[in-house]
This record gives sequence, structure tokens and C-alpha cells, in this order.
Amino acid sequence: MSDVENRLIKLRERIDASRDDLIELTQSLIRLPTVNPPGDGYLAICDLLDARLSQHGFQTDRVRAFGALGDSDRYPRWNIIARHEGKHAGECVHFNSHTDVVDTGDGWTVDPFAAVLKDDRVYGRGACDMKGGLAASIIAAEAFIDVFSDYNGAIEISGTCDEESGGFGGVAYLAEQGWFDPTRVQHVIIPEPLNKDRICLGHRGVLWTEIETYGHIAHGSMPFLGDCAVRHMGAVVSALEQDLFPQLARKRTNMPVVPDGARQSTLNINSIHGGLSEPEDGYTGLPSALVPDRCRMVLDRRFLMEENLDEVRAELRDVIEAAGKDRETFRYEMRELFSVLPTMTDHDAPVVKAVAKAIKTEVGCEPAYVVSPGTYDQKHIDRIGKLKNCIAYGPGILDLAHQPDEYVGVQDMIDAAKVMAQSLVTLLGCDQR
Ligand SMILES: [Zn+2]
Repeated sequence: MSDVENRLIKLRERIDASRDDLIELTQSLIRLPTVNPPGDGYLAICDLLDARLSQHGFQTDRVRAFGALGDSDRYPRWNIIARHEGKHAGECVHFNSHTDVVDTGDGWTVDPFAAVLKDDRVYGRGACDMKGGLAASIIAAEAFIDVFSDYNGAIEISGTCDEESGGFGGVAYLAEQGWFDPTRVQHVIIPEPLNKDRICLGHRGVLWTEIETYGHIAHGSMPFLGDCAVRHMGAVVSALEQDLFPQLARKRTNMPVVPDGARQSTLNINSIHGGLSEPEDGYTGLPSALVPDRCRMVLDRRFLMEENLDEVRAELRDVIEAAGKDRETFRYEMRELFSVLPTMTDHDAPVVKAVAKAIKTEVGCEPAYVVSPGTYDQKHIDRIGKLKNCIAYGPGILDLAHQPDEYVGVQDMIDAAKVMAQSLVTLLGCDQR
């Protein structure tokens, strides 16, 4: 048996032996309730990661995203980047996990922050999305460093905030500061819960727009003296129903988006507000009689590699213009809130090939290649960092994310850690020597 084969066996044994450590690490991460919004406990989770990784020879940097969207003295946006250097210079593999979790919501049968271990699963908010993935990547990196201590290159593990609210104080900020520059990082794996046999290559594009229609305020008993902005918006909504939704349903993509319902263009009416604002809690009176002079709608359009952003914008504008054509006083404004282009890493990219090979040997099946319906932090690595060699791969079942009784399977974490560790062997060239 060759030296590499021997070491690969050791690597697996080392990860199997870390089972209790992996469970405890996942539990201690879940027990820090890093709920976002508002973005609680970011410094505390950086402290925990710092203590853990420093002990294993990583150099750590903490970066607060001063002035980024969401950052304040009350809720500072803290991130941590830990780097381990090999014997000689070489390429760097970076594991990026977000540390924030969404609010718990209702319907839990266990304490969402107790990190209960039951039936070989760890339960809690963030268990699968994505503290389990973060813990698995740490176990994988530590095992690799122990067994291949003479490796060349570097390994980085980052814990970044705010992914659930767009990632501006997290990966976007770090990318702007050069942390994801392709001259310092060559391969990125994001351990989001995509299932241990799937490689997520990228995501669809996004265009968020706010549309506002204008009218004229008047007494509600004499609406003919005013001009109702909500009725104008109603015309826009029916035009969306009649024209745009059917058009979008016909636009299918070759991107392997999962679930299948998202393998086309989609539109969500995120919110509509018109007329008086909601009264404060405790107000017991009636509303006053007013013709609303403003109505605002937020639209969330997801688009495909086969479309282009300018066409997506124009298509929406055309539908709104057509809706207003026969309405004499129709006035509106369209404001773009946010856009991201679709992205999909090549099947031939080194990180894709390495993880695919590792899934075959460690999970024992052919990997499935998927694309996410929504964006995640890959968008910033791609767009700001200009780093294309990036995927999401991690343990946990995607459908459980953001749900009550979220959990991550311990065996899934072990298997994913083995895939990550073997990917390090390939990407850092330890099998070539
Ligand atoms: Zn996530």
C-alpha cells in the first residue's frame, strides 16, 4: 500500500474518532444564539472559533465590518478568518461558513438553543444551516493537518456574519477588503446544507425592485376628488398576473436548479403597502377616511443564466407601462433595490472535480450537481472577489433550514468531513507526491 493510501485510511480513522468532539463543537456553536436580525452574539462566536482554531496552529484575524449595512455599536458585525500555513508555499483552500441563524419562529418541540442530541442528530436553530457544516469543516481541516502535516499551501476557515440578511457585513465586506482575492485564495467551499452527496455550483440571479404608484389624497367619502394610488397598483398587479407570470413560467433553464419548481424564472410579490400606515398596538379607534396617495410594492424577481439583467428590467418596465396605458393619471416610479447576476461554477473547475472525486470514495455514490434557487455568499466571492472556483458543499438537509426542529445528522457531518478532508488532499496536491 502506498504512503498516500495509508494516510487516507488514517485520515478517515481520525475523523471517525472525532465523533464526540464534532458533536460537542456543533453543540457549543448552536448554544450561542447568533440570531439575525438583529445580529446577536457575533463577537462571542468569533471568540469560540478563535480559541478552537488557535489551539490547532491557525493564525486568526477578527474583522469588524465598520460602517457596513447593519453594523452598529450595539450590534457590531464581527467576522473571523483563521489561516493555517503548510510547510511550503502553495494554493489556499478556504472554507467559509456564516455564523448567523434566522429567528426560531414557532412550532419547536425542543429548546432551539439547547442543542439536544437525540437519535444521532443534533437539534437546534442553525444545526443544519449551517453550524453543523462549520463544525464539519473544522474537524476535516484539523484531521488533515494532523495526518498530512508536511502539506504545502494553506487552509483557511472563516466564520462570517449576516448571510441571512444579504452578507454585506460579512463576506461582501471581506471580499471588498481583499480577503477573497484569487492571489491569496484559490479554492472556496461553503459548507451550506446541500446534502452530503450534492455539489452546489451556484445560484440564479436576483433583481429586487420597488415600484411606487402615486395618486392624490382626498376625503374617503368623495373619492372622485382624489386619485387612488392603490387602484393604480391594482392595475399593475393584474398586468403581472395576466402577462408577466405566464411569460416567466415559460422560461425554463438548463441550470440544474433544485427544487424543480425553481428551474424557471420566478417572481414574488414581496409586499404591498398603500394608504395609512398600520395603527400602533393598542389603538382602538377607527381608521380615518382617506384616499391613498401612495402605494409601494416590492418585487423579487429571480432570473436565469439564459436571461440578461437589462432584459429583465425592461420586461418589467414594459408590463407596468402597459398597465398604465389607459389610466389617465397613472404615475409611477421604479427603484432598483438590489441585483445579483446568476453564477455557475464550471464542472471542470478544480474544486468541483476534487469534491466530486471525494464524494465517490467517501459517500460511495455519484455526486449530483445542483444550483440553488436563492443566492448565498458565493455571490460576493464571485462578484467582488472575482473568484470563480467556488462551490457550496456541506452536510444537512436543505429543506430543514429555517424550519422548527431543525437538526443535523451526526453521520452526515462525519461523512461530509471526510469528503472535505479528502478534497484538501487532492486540492493541495498531497496525492501527487
Ligand atoms: Zn445558510
